[in-house]
Amino acid sequence: MSDHAPRREPAPADFLDRVDEDAQKVLRRLNQFDYHGYLVGGGVRDLLLDGTPKDFDVATSARPQEVRKLFRNCRLIGRRFRLAHILFLGGKVIETATFRAKPAEVNRDGALITDDNEFGTPESDAHRRDFTVNALFYDAAEDVIIDYVGGLEDLERRLLRTIGEPKVRFCEDPVRMLRAVKFAARLDLTIEPATRAAILSERFELEKAALPRLLEEIYRMMRGGSAAASFKLLDELALMELLIPEVSAFLGRPAADPWHPLIGILEAVDAALARGEQIESGVLLATFFWPLYQAALSSLPSKPSVRELRPVAEALVGPMAVRLKMPKRDVAVLLSALEGQLRFEHARRRRATRAAFGRHPAFPATYQLYTLRAEAEGEPAERIAEWRALAEEFPPQDHERGRGGRGPRRRRR
Ligand code: ATP
Ligand code: MG
Repeated sequence: MSDHAPRREPAPADFLDRVDEDAQKVLRRLNQFDYHGYLVGGGVRDLLLDGTPKDFDVATSARPQEVRKLFRNCRLIGRRFRLAHILFLGGKVIETATFRAKPAEVNRDGALITDDNEFGTPESDAHRRDFTVNALFYDAAEDVIIDYVGGLEDLERRLLRTIGEPKVRFCEDPVRMLRAVKFAARLDLTIEPATRAAILSERFELEKAALPRLLEEIYRMMRGGSAAASFKLLDELALMELLIPEVSAFLGRPAADPWHPLIGILEAVDAALARGEQIESGVLLATFFWPLYQAALSSLPSKPSVRELRPVAEALVGPMAVRLKMPKRDVAVLLSALEGQLRFEHARRRRATRAAFGRHPAFPATYQLYTLRAEAEGEPAERIAEWRALAEEFPPQDHERGRGGRGPRRRRR
């Protein structure tokens, strides 16, 4: 690889102060022992965008074994490519990876990267990353941002662009298309035209991606605080029809329609996460199945009985659960939460059935889905009050203890 001089820019005045203190310690210690140690990836990007990074990753010239010698609190992980995890109080991990080489050659017909484990230089390490804004280094010793790929300029223009030829980069790893959507939605970046065109033309490559990684990206989009924007963009780029055809068929009319029920409930998810609420994976899945479930129930010839609620949910969720290899636990939560929305209508009428409903291990997830729905759909105040009363009587802690079973029978006065 040619040795192009990178662009080096002084970091913004308060940059170092906003870097996590433990990450600073890692950088300092690497530098003390004459290794390069740079902050990389999302940490640099988010600080330059005045955001709050989720985590801080470090890239270094030190080999994994050398990193281990410098840090007592260090664990090496990964079989193919060894990474150092440096552990700090509170379960914090500073992931520290040796500079990697770009994989030597990619097959003409766009083969997937399988061998990605050679050590390299800062420049090669920048070039193997996905998007220009994700490949900036911060050198704490000099207090500068080092840019080999034009990421600074793209950040200024708020553009998401692949490093190198977009078609090649998406064929190497199709999951990058979903990452593009996630970053564009979350950071409010525009996908640069050639990158966007490549997603549209190469989207069928998604079928070659490992299923758990696809599901993981769906979860990340939903947890990233921009679920609604992500789903709209997935739909717009014709990725939704490949990823979750059930949803894209349901969307029918453009998802950009602000009154779309699906977008409404995803906006409620974004708002709940912004308030700091925790939402478990099964409930996240349930939010976008809910409008589909309602549609499926209303297409039945007659009003469904309580017994029919479950089979209808299973018929709807089953094919996608299999296709995306959803964890059984998430599917169980998803099904109970869906079914519970209507089951409540039967349970609420009598004190005993209502209490049994509230005591059920699936109640907290069911209630959470209800609150998200209520926010999106505007439920009647009396009904919201009924659910809330039940939630107060059977708070989530009570269900925690009973995880797995039906929960401890509570003695009632
Ligand atoms: P987030 O805030 O979501 O964590 P991030 O940019 O830190 O965003 P990660 O998934 O944590 O994203 O990955 C860290 C870095 O590793 C990225 O910034 C990017 O440089 C590189 N990277 C991750 N996944 C890929 C990929 N599929 N192809 C190329 N580079 C990748
Ligand atoms: Mg990260």
